[in-house]
Amino acid sequence: MKCSQPQRIRLISPDDLADLYPSLAISLAWPVIMPMTVNQADFQPASNAKRSLLFQAIDHLNSQAAAVDNVLAIANIPYGVVSINSDKCTLCMSCVATCPTQALKDGGDTPALKFTEQDCVQCGLCEAACPEKVISLVAQINFNPQQRQQVQILKKEPPFECIRCGSEFATQSMVHKMIEMVGAHSAFSANIERLKMCGDCRVKDMFEDILDDPEKQLR
Ligand code: SF4
Ligand code: SF4
Repeated sequence: MKCSQPQRIRLISPDDLADLYPSLAISLAWPVIMPMTVNQADFQPASNAKRSLLFQAIDHLNSQAAAVDNVLAIANIPYGVVSINSDKCTLCMSCVATCPTQALKDGGDTPALKFTEQDCVQCGLCEAACPEKVISLVAQINFNPQQRQQVQILKKEPPFECIRCGSEFATQSMVHKMIEMVGAHSAFSANIERLKMCGDCRVKDMFEDILDDPEKQLR
């Protein structure tokens, strides 16, 4: 929090007590900071969770400050954001599965990765779980409550539809990644189109192939 009078606290030696008087005189002109209590009408904690109370206390103090930094970057604190390289994220949801606070969430019916800054404790589990290694942590305190509580969409894309039955069975990124990784392998290169089919259609396609040419599997 920025104050219009930044020197609210400083150390003085007993020999310099006289220096205190001008400071005390100045402090009389400082605005009164209203204390926060749970009974006050302007402070209604949504939950008693320590983290929620802390943010509400910070917001309460900031509402009385002359000016407020939007974001304060400090290393090694349990507040902050995650950033991802969205080009390389496959929307596999490993990070969502490991996030203990649900700061990271999936997109429900749509392939998407969502993030809420206020809920992130910077534990790093998502970073460790990401198979693509595309997550990085940025420790910071965001003093803007709207930004902090806003659900951000880190990545979103249309689902991949099976080329045979049209059902949605994976994300576009996942199928492209799969083709990139195993498509050139001899076991898949002849049937690369099967990688674009859902599980059921892949099996049907294989059996149709066997019925058409029973010797093919042996060659
Ligand atoms: S750092 Fe921890 S809390 Fe934050 S998004 Fe990743 S797993 Fe969730
Ligand atoms: S774990 Fe990595 S690749 Fe998978 S959804 Fe999360 S950021 Fe994307």
